[in-house]
Amino acid sequence: MGNASITTRGLNHFFGKGDARKQAIFDVNLEIERGSLTILMGPSGSGKTTLLTLIGCLREVSDGSVSVLGHELNNADEDLLVGLRRRLGFIFQAHNLHESLTSTQNVLMGLQVHGGGNPQKQRDAAHHILNLLGLADRRDYLPSNLSGGQKQRVAVARALVSNPEIILADEPTAALDKESGHKVVQMLKSLGKARGTTTVMVTHAPRILEMADRIITLEDGHIVSDQRQ
Ligand code: ADP
Ligand code: MG
Repeated sequence: MGNASITTRGLNHFFGKGDARKQAIFDVNLEIERGSLTILMGPSGSGKTTLLTLIGCLREVSDGSVSVLGHELNNADEDLLVGLRRRLGFIFQAHNLHESLTSTQNVLMGLQVHGGGNPQKQRDAAHHILNLLGLADRRDYLPSNLSGGQKQRVAVARALVSNPEIILADEPTAALDKESGHKVVQMLKSLGKARGTTTVMVTHAPRILEMADRIITLEDGHIVSDQRQ
């Protein structure tokens, strides 16, 4: 698989059954290099989220091939998928923070799925990432006392705290002002350089497009453009 962390071959995806069956992804072939920042663009309904969730082991791959970190997802058993999901970081539009937990506790949830670990070290890791995201003075706040942008940054911290090998982000900067959106993406980019973290992100923000290594555009489930910059 060379230096690719994600490969798709002849990938198709269908929703629904019988008369309601509808194809959302058509013959997608991709090789995404380790450490790169790739942006997925395209109109609403073009298949961006479907593609991200297929790569993220959140949706069954049943037609064609997806390989993630060297493992085939088509026909993969649940143990393999669970193990792979732990190596990925997800940042979604709806930030899904637990309303009863503070910023630090929410970030710790990003480590809990991994089990074990020294609690003091885990707290230090959570505080460190919150500091990097400019939330040092918000770490003991509940989500209801945070702005939309701050909540989104807590969700980013939760995704990054476990040092995932691949980050899948669906419009992670939509709720952020320009400056903090830029900062978050800059952080993802430097993780790519420092640790080889691969990021695939859906976004439309022009200033963020400039920061990508590659921009892939989907229309009606087809890749219509694939530009490296
Ligand atoms: P995007 O993220 O680019 O807006 P999606 O991947 O969400 O697009 O959707 C691609 C297509 O698949 C759309 O036509 C959408 O209606 C359809 N679709 C997405 N999710 C489902 C689902 N759970 N059930 C049925 N159809 C779906
Ligand atoms: Mg979407």
